[in-house]
Amino acid sequence: MSITIDKPELLAPAGNFEKLQAALIYGADAVYFGGKNFSLRAFGDNFTREEIIQAVKFTHERGKKIYAAVNVFAHNADFETLADYLHFLDGAGVDAVLVSDLGVLSLVKETGLKIHISTQANVTNWRAAKVFHDMGASRIVLARELTCAEVETIKRNCAAELEIFIHGAMCISYSGRCWLSKYLTGRDANQGACTHSCRWKYNLVEETRAGEYFPVGEDERGSYVMNSKDLCLLPCLDKIIASGVASLKIEGRMKSVNYVAGVVKVYRAAMDSYFDGDFKVRGEWLAELDKVAHRPYTTGFFLSDDKPTEIHATSKPSRASDFLGIVRAFDAATMTATIEQRGKFSVGERVEFLQPKGKTFAQTITSMQDEDGLEILSAPHAQQLVRVPVVEPVEIWSLMRS
Ligand code: SF4
Repeated sequence: MSITIDKPELLAPAGNFEKLQAALIYGADAVYFGGKNFSLRAFGDNFTREEIIQAVKFTHERGKKIYAAVNVFAHNADFETLADYLHFLDGAGVDAVLVSDLGVLSLVKETGLKIHISTQANVTNWRAAKVFHDMGASRIVLARELTCAEVETIKRNCAAELEIFIHGAMCISYSGRCWLSKYLTGRDANQGACTHSCRWKYNLVEETRAGEYFPVGEDERGSYVMNSKDLCLLPCLDKIIASGVASLKIEGRMKSVNYVAGVVKVYRAAMDSYFDGDFKVRGEWLAELDKVAHRPYTTGFFLSDDKPTEIHATSKPSRASDFLGIVRAFDAATMTATIEQRGKFSVGERVEFLQPKGKTFAQTITSMQDEDGLEILSAPHAQQLVRVPVVEPVEIWSLMRS
C-alpha cells in the first residue's frame, strides 16, 4: 500500500507589512504576525489594526493564510483589552491565532477563531498535544527540543495538525520559556521583551573587586555558554515531510526583508523538489542561507538529543550580504530596472539580484539615473527611486544586494 503524503505548508515570519509581502511573493504558503500587544516580539515593528486589515487582504487575495500571534503569558490586566482585540482579529478574517496561555485559549474559544498552540507552550509529548486538541486547538506548534522519532510518535497519537520550526534562532531555554532576561534586566521574554541575555559575553566578578573581570574561558574569545547556534533543518527536509507534519515554520519576525526573502525562497524550492521526486540539498541553497544574517547552523535536537546544545562562541551573528534596494519596475525595451533604495550603492559597485522565482544574477552598476532622468553616481537617500541598467530581465520585487 502506498502512503500519500500531503504537501505541508511553508510558514514565514511577517515582522511588518513589507516582510509579509516578501514572504508571500518569495513562496510562503502562510505568514504569522504580531499586533502591537500580546505577541512575543514587543520590540518588533508589529502591526496596527489598519495594517492587519491590509495584511489579511493582501494574503487572502493570493489564496494564502495568515495567523496572529497572541502568545504572551497573560496577566489579569491583559484581559481588560484582550477580548476586544480578539474580536477585531476575528472580524478582520485572520485564519487562526497562536496562543500559549490557558486563559487566553479559553477567551479565544469564545470568539470561534481557530486556535494554534504556540511553541511557547512547550508541547513535547503526544499526551500534551492531545489535551490541547481536546480543548479545541486545531494545530500544535511543537517544542523545538524534539527528535524526529518523537515528532512521529506525536503524529501517530494525536489528530491535531502539527507544526515544527525548521529554520532560525534557538533559545537556550525551552523554546523561549525563559527567565534570564527578566532576572538580569527586568525585561520579560514571556511578555515579548527579551533582551537576548543568553547571547552576551559573560565574565566572573568577585564582589569586592568591582571592575575586575575574570575570564570564564572557553577559548580566547571569552565565554558564550548560553548562546545557541541557529537551527537549519534543510538537510532533514525529507524526514520532516515524511513525518506528516502540516506546517514548516521559519523563525524571525525581527529579521530583515533579505532574510525572509532568501530563506523562504530556499525552503520553497527544497519542498517543491521533494514533491517533484528529486530532493537533495543543493549548493546554491546553502550558499543563499549563508547570505542572510545567522549564527553557525545546527540541526538542533531533530536527528538526536544525545548531544549537548551547540554553542556559538561570539555574540555577533554573521552578515554576508547588504540589502541595497527592491526592484519596483523593469523596462524590457531599455533593459532598465527602477530600484527603491534601502542601502547606499554607487556606480562601479558589484551587486546581485535575488529574484522571487528566477535565478540570482550578478552585475556591476554601470550608470544610474534619478527620477528626473539626471545621471547620478550614488543613491544616498532612503527609499529614493533610481534607474539602473540590468544585464538580464529582472522580476519585480527582486532584492538588490551587495
Ligand atoms: S534570553 Fe535567550 S534563551 Fe532566554 S528567551 Fe531570550 S533569546 Fe531565548
